[in-house]
Amino acid sequence: MTAAAHRHTADVAATPVDTRHWIAGRRVESAAAFPDSSPIDGRPLAEVARGTVADADDAVAAAAAAFPAWAATPRAERARLLHAIADGVEGRLDDLARVETADNGALLRAHRRSVMPRVAHNFRFFADRALSLGRKDFETRGHRNHVSWDPAGPCALITPWNAPLMLATWKVAPALAAGNTVVLKPSEWSPLTASLLADIAAAAGLPPGVLNVLQGYGAEAGAALAAHPGVRRVSFTGSVPTGRRVAAAAATHLTPVSLELGGKSPLLVFADADLDLAADLAVGQYDNAGQVCLAATRLLVEEPVAEAFTRRLMDRAARLTPGDPREPGTDLGPLIHPRQLERVDGYVRRAVEEGARALLGGGPNSRLGGLHYLPTLLTDVDQDSEIVQEEVFGPVLTLQTFRGEDEAVRLADGTRFGLAAALATGDSRRAERVGARLTAGTVWVNCFYVRDLRAPFGGARQSGIGREGGGWSFDFYCDLKNTVTAPTPTPTDGGGHAEGSGHG
Ligand code: NAD
Repeated sequence: MTAAAHRHTADVAATPVDTRHWIAGRRVESAAAFPDSSPIDGRPLAEVARGTVADADDAVAAAAAAFPAWAATPRAERARLLHAIADGVEGRLDDLARVETADNGALLRAHRRSVMPRVAHNFRFFADRALSLGRKDFETRGHRNHVSWDPAGPCALITPWNAPLMLATWKVAPALAAGNTVVLKPSEWSPLTASLLADIAAAAGLPPGVLNVLQGYGAEAGAALAAHPGVRRVSFTGSVPTGRRVAAAAATHLTPVSLELGGKSPLLVFADADLDLAADLAVGQYDNAGQVCLAATRLLVEEPVAEAFTRRLMDRAARLTPGDPREPGTDLGPLIHPRQLERVDGYVRRAVEEGARALLGGGPNSRLGGLHYLPTLLTDVDQDSEIVQEEVFGPVLTLQTFRGEDEAVRLADGTRFGLAAALATGDSRRAERVGARLTAGTVWVNCFYVRDLRAPFGGARQSGIGREGGGWSFDFYCDLKNTVTAPTPTPTDGGGHAEGSGHG
C-alpha cells in the first residue's frame, strides 16, 4: 500500500483515531501501511503506518533532542504534566475503552470499570513517586556520598496486545516521571489506543519529542528500536521468543533491558481450602479469554478434593457467557487474531492426540464462530507434555492432582516459567511454608490479580528479567550516580586554602 493510497484516520467505535506515527509532536506518515482489524467481527478498522528503520531513527532522534530539556525540567513540573495526562485519560475514558475493545476484543465493561482508570492511576502514581526520588546521602571519613537517580535518556518501550494501554503506560509513566524521553512501539494487533495517548499527552501540554509513538511490525519497527544505538533503555513486555530477540538486539550496544515475558502459573488447591473460593479463583483464569500473562492455567489439586473441586469449577464455567465483548453480560470475548486461534487450537488438538481428556470445551465455539474459543479444561496430562509446559495464551486450563506439599511444589515449579503462583489453603502456616518454596515473582494466597503499584512485579526464570513497580521502575529507568565530596576545608584543617591564606 502506498502513502497516497491509505487513510490517515480511522473512525473506530465512533472515535476518530489518527493512524500515523507521532514523532516530535507531529503526525508522520510512512510509505506503507498495515491493516488492523477487529477481533469482534473481523471487520477492517484501520490502515496503520508501517514503521521502517528510517522512521525509528527519526523517532529516536526526536526523543534525543527533547531529552536535555525534559531531564532538566523540575520534577514537580513533570509531575504536573503527568497528572494532566491522567486527567486527559479520565476525560476520554469511554473513547479509550471503546477503541481498546474494538481493537483487542477484551471486555468493554472491564476497560471502563478497571483498566482505563488504572491507566490514569499509572500516571498519577509514578508522577508522585518520582518526587521523593534521589536523595540518599551518607558519609565516608567526613566525605559526603550523594546518590542520585539521573534520567538515562531515550527509552524504547515495546508492548503486547493483551492489555495494550495498561501495559504501555506502566512503562511510559515511570520513564517520563524519571526525566526520560520515550519511543513507544505498540503491538501491530492493537495499535490504536497508543495513538489516542499521543493526542492526550499533546493536549496536556507535554513538550514535543518527549513521548513518541512509532507504529509498525515487531520485526521491523520493534527490531530497529531494540538495536538502536541512541536508545538508553529497552523495556519489553511480550513473549519469551521475542524477548530473547530483543535482549540480543539490545546487547549490540549493551543497552539495559527489562523483560516482562510469558507465564504458566500454577494454582495449588490444598485439601484444606475453601473449595468454593478455589473454584472462583480457577474460573477467573478464563478472564480475557485466558490471554493474560499471569493466568494460573495449571490447576494442581490435592487428590482427596479433586473431584469436589472439579465439579464446582465446571458448574461455574458452565455459567460463563461467551459473546460480544461490548455487551455488558458477556464474560468471555473472542481471541485477538485468527493466528492466535490457530495457535491455541493447535495446542489443544496436540494435547488430545497425546491422551489428554477435555472435561470442558476443547475447540472453537462453533455456535458463535469467529474467533470465539470454548473455555477448555484438560485432564490426564503429563507434567512434561507440551500443554503443561508451554504458554497457550487462550482459555485453556489443565488439571493435575498431587499428594502432599512436596509433590505440589515439584509440579508447580516444574516449568521454565516463574511469573506467578497462587495457593488456596485454609492453613496460614502452610501458605507461608509453600509460598516460600515456590519460584515466582508474585505469590497470591486465597486471592488472585490483587495488584499494587508499590509492589515489585516481574518474573523469575524465563518469565523475565528485572522488576517493574514502585522504586524498582526508577532503578531501571535511571542511571544511578554517586557523587563524593571532600569536607569543606576550614582554617584549622591545614588544607591548601587555609595554608595559603596563612602566608598572606
Ligand atoms: P510478542 O512477543 O509477539 O510481541 C510483543 C511486542 O514485541 C509487539 O509490539 C511486537 O510487535 C514486538 N516485536 C515482535 N518481534 C519483535 C522483534 N524482533 N524486535 C522487537 N520487537 C518485536 O507478544 P504478544 O503476542 O504481543 O503478547 C503476548 C505475550 O506477552 C505472552 O507471552 C504474554 O505472556 C506476554 N505478556 C507478558 C506480560 C508480563 O508482564 N510478564 C504481560 C502481558 C503479556
